[in-house]
Amino acid sequence: MKVAVLGAGVVGVATAWELLRDGHEVVVLDRRPEPASETSYANAGMIAPGHAYAWSSPAALKTLIRALFRDDLALRFRFQGSLDFWRWALRFALQCTAEKAARNTMRKVSLALYSQRRLAEVLAETGIACGMRSRGALYLYRRAAGLAAADEKAKILRDAGVEVRRVSPEEAAALDPVYEPVKDRFAGALYAPGDESGDARLFTRELARRCAAEGAVLRLGETVRDFRTAGDRVESAITDRGEVAADAFVLALGCYSAPIGKKLGLELPIWPVKGYSITLPVGGSNNPPQLPGVDEDNLFAFANFGDRVRLTAIAELDGWDWSHRPEDFAPMLKAAHELFPQAGDWSRAEYWAGLRPMTPNNLPIIGRGRHRNLWVNSGHGHMGWTWACGTARITADLLAGRRPEWDPSGLEPKAH
Ligand SMILES: Cc1cc2nc3c(=O)[nH]c(=O)nc-3n(C[C@H](O)[C@H](O)[C@H](O)COP(=O)(O)OP(=O)(O)OC[C@H]3O[C@@H](n4cnc5c(N)ncnc54)[C@H](O)[C@@H]3O)c2cc1C
Repeated sequence: MKVAVLGAGVVGVATAWELLRDGHEVVVLDRRPEPASETSYANAGMIAPGHAYAWSSPAALKTLIRALFRDDLALRFRFQGSLDFWRWALRFALQCTAEKAARNTMRKVSLALYSQRRLAEVLAETGIACGMRSRGALYLYRRAAGLAAADEKAKILRDAGVEVRRVSPEEAAALDPVYEPVKDRFAGALYAPGDESGDARLFTRELARRCAAEGAVLRLGETVRDFRTAGDRVESAITDRGEVAADAFVLALGCYSAPIGKKLGLELPIWPVKGYSITLPVGGSNNPPQLPGVDEDNLFAFANFGDRVRLTAIAELDGWDWSHRPEDFAPMLKAAHELFPQAGDWSRAEYWAGLRPMTPNNLPIIGRGRHRNLWVNSGHGHMGWTWACGTARITADLLAGRRPEWDPSGLEPKAH
């Protein structure tokens, strides 16, 4: 079967790889000249079942209300006139009950564990090196009450099969010596030994190369504008360079699956949630964190890819705006300088902002919509790197008419 994968972010490229393994003829389309040039470009790099809590929770609702009046929080809100936004926001708010947050968290964790196994298999079969670190992650707390509450909250992760241990500041410093000089600032940490990190952009670009070597056609720099349909089938994707006909299509355009899906009458509740990152080159005299983790009191995440260290923060409801200003990074820089003053070469920092494709229940949209040969694999929110290889295999299984190992029931476009 000829399958056109629309989107060459980490999700689209991982899907292309799985489709090739199933023996399909694959063409991948992306508007950018290189894969992973949008949200998969500079994310936090964490593969973290140990941090897979649902963002839509009772606490998020309270933070959102406070964010209407303050701008220094990890969650920021800018007023938006779009009806699509308010529809999405209402659906997000409806997911913020304790019961739904617990259910969504269990499912997120389960998908993360499955996907992590799939990622390990893809890395083993391709030999891709993308700065992977597999010695766990540390979630740091400055106050004893915060640590105790987090330890209690982690029960749901433990119930879902994730190992999470409470560790003292001394134990944290033994796991990662970068904390030795600052360990007095912490009450302790939660340590998730199974969590990992790696560079999603490097992985995606290397995997795209492997796809091309296996016969996939990469049509880069080509924008999908619309579709030609016949009855309940999509015949071709109409691009700015012509038409791409295929037997089946996979919509993996990240946030943009929503506006492009609309052309097919699909209502995909995906809204961009902006985040910011700083990438520092690491040289001989630097002392970066060795393990990935999160400074939970400042909600900033970090990961070490060997030659670079990545710092990320902030969830901002700011529409479809990719821009960033120096002041957006100020709180993150302050927290990072306190913790890791020698992390990397600050004078050569690369600043970036990206849009997380977020759904109201924070789970991805997987499955078929109203057209029987078009599959959606989008809406991975803050977990797209963690989930990419899992949802890619699930999509390939669905497309082949096989029952996936991980059950995606309820994640179909219509069900969201
Ligand atoms: C600050 C930040 C930190 C994050 N940290 C983590 C983390 O630690 N762990 C984790 O698992 N996830 C993390 N994420 C989330 C993760 O980065 C995303 O979920 C993931 O990158 C989404 O991948 P995607 O392939 O769906 O989307 P994208 O990477 O955005 O890919 C979509 C592709 O579609 C293309 N496209 C769009 N419209 C068109 C069109 N009309 N025609 C042709 N091509 C088009 C784009 O060019 C793009 O290449 C983070 C995100 C952010 C912003």
